[in-house]
Amino acid sequence: MRVPIIAGNWKMNKDVQEAVSFVNQIKEKLPPADELETALAAPTLCLVPMVKAAGDSPLKIMAENCYYKDKGAYTGETSPYALYQAGIHHVILGHSERRTYFGETDDLINKKVKAALKNGLCPIVCCDDTMGRRIAGKKVHWVVSRILADLHGLSNDEICHVTIAYEPSWAIGTGESADPAQAAEGCYLIRQTISDMYGDEVANDVRILYGGSVTTANINALMDKSDIDGVLVGTASLDAETFLRLVHH
Ligand code: PGA
Repeated sequence: MRVPIIAGNWKMNKDVQEAVSFVNQIKEKLPPADELETALAAPTLCLVPMVKAAGDSPLKIMAENCYYKDKGAYTGETSPYALYQAGIHHVILGHSERRTYFGETDDLINKKVKAALKNGLCPIVCCDDTMGRRIAGKKVHWVVSRILADLHGLSNDEICHVTIAYEPSWAIGTGESADPAQAAEGCYLIRQTISDMYGDEVANDVRILYGGSVTTANINALMDKSDIDGVLVGTASLDAETFLRLVHH
């Protein structure tokens, strides 16, 4: 049984005070992690104070990015090793904003995924999709090559610690979500690719999320789809009451 995940991605929003107050507002209102996992990805400065505020609540605190080296002369980067040591055990990698604005390639993302896993971090690897709405030849090729490249060389043991998020680029931050059938098709395509790479058993265990304009209005229809194991939510995760409504959808 794949435990569903509701994950927020705050992006470059919220300062430390806002982040801690958000955690304090929600931490006692979350379901147990074996029923439904809850996670928030936040700007780097907020992470340690949020881990402290979350205490032993089920809330997981995630980094939004990290580098692929543990230490060294890499000005401005965040080490996966240092994240783990600071109590942050989850990280988003390959978000479409990292690919578009910061030029991250599949090769770099693959290195980051491997480094994160080596250091004990569980990554949510984002598979963006710029190919429009229809599942047609080009789209299939796009999604399959992303997955093959970003997860290249991972062992069966490692892939079990990876979550994947299917995020059509045209749905991110636009208020125009993929409809549930399209979202489920994208997630299914990813699961098929994992099955080709690692076999059915592994593919059945890997959790695949949908992201892109998820709101309290569309979450139920999305979560009803058997191929969608959860959601990665940007805009609608910024308000604590709304985040709780998403969690208790
Ligand atoms: P959105 O962002 O919910 O604002 O569309 C989703 C994401 O970028 O993960």
